[in-house]
Formats: sequence, structure tokens, C-alpha cells
Amino acid sequence: MSDKNTPINKSINPAFYKKSKKQDAIDVSQLAQRLITGNITALSQGITLIESSVQEHQVKAQQLIELCLPHANKSVRLGITGVPGVGKSTFIESLGNYLTDQGKKVAVLAVDPTSSVSHGSILGDKTRMYELSQNPNAFIRPSASGDSLGGVARKTREAIILCEAAGFDTIIIETVGVGQSETVVHSMVDFFLLLKLAGAGDELQGIKRGIIEMADTIVINKADGGNEKAARLARSAFAKALHLFPPKPSNWSPMVITCSALEHSGISDSWDLVSDYCNHTKASGYFAKKRAEQNKFWLLQTIENTLKDTFYNNKDVKSTLPEILEKVARGEVSPFKAAKSLIATADS
Ligand code: GDP
Repeated sequence: MSDKNTPINKSINPAFYKKSKKQDAIDVSQLAQRLITGNITALSQGITLIESSVQEHQVKAQQLIELCLPHANKSVRLGITGVPGVGKSTFIESLGNYLTDQGKKVAVLAVDPTSSVSHGSILGDKTRMYELSQNPNAFIRPSASGDSLGGVARKTREAIILCEAAGFDTIIIETVGVGQSETVVHSMVDFFLLLKLAGAGDELQGIKRGIIEMADTIVINKADGGNEKAARLARSAFAKALHLFPPKPSNWSPMVITCSALEHSGISDSWDLVSDYCNHTKASGYFAKKRAEQNKFWLLQTIENTLKDTFYNNKDVKSTLPEILEKVARGEVSPFKAAKSLIATADS
């Protein structure tokens, strides 16, 4: 992985050197122009720039985002989550093809905080969504890798802007739901869809706290091949559970439906719900209000992450932190006093 502290060394990694040189030579305004006309190569290059941790690329990435911003925002952003094996990629492929058949342009991004460890094995597998990846009106990008969920999330949020500027009107953000990734995806989408499977009456068990509250709809997948009845039972169990929650600020009542991503049934129903939601919340003003809130959230989030990064990358903090941690562990100094003195070190 590239790192801003890693010197570029031709003899060690010529491929990286070549790629990095190419990024350095990029003319940002030209790239933006190509991207805005819908050029997919330009879009990919732009996202690569966003994902690079090289300082110079970061500067260019921010310039590119500024140029793209006036062309962004005109899309539906849809978050999709569910455990591995529930059928996310099959569902997205089916939904994506359905939407492109309706003349839409669909971009699929992923937030997988494990991607730097597993090299994308959970969500970034190249064989996933093969058919959709061949569709000229679809764009699929595996999860950015990063040291932290915050890093992956920022890159994804910026990638959304580029995809919108390139003319994609439907942005699907997929997450596998590791750690806080669902909350993070929820904070960057208009509509949040939870994919579930029917079980043996234990549908509500093992569900992460908070996930039901976040869902704008629950879709029970694999309602096929004799599993239809179990899926219907799961649907009523979830519908009952949803009734127990207070109304959402959107005033939208989340629905539960069944589908078979494999047989493409229930896909149009799922999309109808997204469209209904958008119409409902656009009319009430909630749609725009939520996006404004999300922008504020991301401003504060970026400040927080930047401050943290600057602090932990400070060379004095880096060199003294391990020793201070030990002292705190041994009870020789209070955590509060140690924190104050470390912060003072970073400020000086
Ligand atoms: P993901 O890990 O959530 O992305 O799940 P996949 O889309 O890769 O699907 C996992 C497995 O479930 C694959 O073998 C799919 O063919 C299968 N699958 C996905 N959707 C359906 C469905 O609607 N019905 C049935 N019977 N199998 C499905």
C-alpha cells in the first residue's frame, strides 16, 4: 500500500513508481472536464486520486472534488447491508440491471473496513456482479482500503461526489456490516435497505442493535425454491417488530417485503419503495434537510479525523506515547494528566 512516508523507490517497486508518476502528471481541470462528460476512465482515475495517501495526490483530489461539486448531488443514494451470503451482490446485480433497463446510470461503491486486512475478500471480489460490471451504464468500484473505517468512509463519500458529477443518478453503497460500517453508510445515504434471510422463527435474534432503527426497508431475500412460506413468516415478524419503534423523523413507515434476487422477483417492488420514499421526503422537505445534516456531520467528522491524524502523526507524540502508555498502565501517572501533557507536546 502506498504511504506518504514511504519514499518512492524505482528499484523496489517500479509498478508503483510508474503509477504514481502518472497520477503526478494529471491535469486536474482536464480530468474534471472529462469526468463531467461521463468518461469512465476519468472517473476511475479521479477515485484513484482520492484513494491515494500521497500528499500531492490529496491536494489534487480536493481540487477535483471542488470542480465536481457543482455537478453533484442529483442522485438517489441507496445504502444496502446484510450479512455475507444474504445475497447482496446478487440483489445489487439484479437491481442494477433493472435500473439501467429503465435508462438509469448506476454506480456501486462499497464500504468494507476489512478490505486492507483481507485485500477485499469480503466485498471486493472481482467475480462479484460480473454481469453488471459489463453493463455500459453501470460502474462498480470495490471498497477503498484504509487503516480505519473513518478513512474508508471519507474516500467513499468523496467518490459519491465524483460518480454523481459523472452522471450517475443512482448510487448504491454496499456494506457488509462489520463494526460501525452500517452507521457510517447510513450517514451518507438517503435510503437504507437491510437484506435479511428467513430463519426458523428466530429472525429477530442476532440482529445488531440499532440496525432495525436505521432501516428504511427490510427485504427478505431468497423467497424462492420452497422458502416462500418461511420468507412470508419472517416478513410478518419483522413488520411487527418495526411497529414497536417510534415514528422516524422522515415520517416514513419502513416496510418489509420479500424478494428473490436470483429469480429477479421483488426487485421492482424494492425500487418502488425507494421511489415512494424519495417522493414522500422530497415533498416534505426532509430529503434536502437530511442531506444538509449529513454534510454538517461530515464536516465535523473530517475535522475530528484530521485533528486525530495530526496528533498521532506528530513525531514527539509518536516517540513518547508508548512510554506514557506504560506509565499510565502502571498507575504512575493519571490518564488525564498524561493526556494533557501529550496534547501540550503536540501543540508546542
Ligand atoms: P453476499 O455475500 O451478500 O454478496 O451474497 P451473494 O450475492 O454472493 O449470494 C450468496 C449466495 O446466495 C450465492 O450462492 C447466490 O447465488 C445465492 N443467492 C443470492 N440471492 C439468492 C436468492 O434470491 N435465492 C437463492 N435461492 N439464492 C440466492
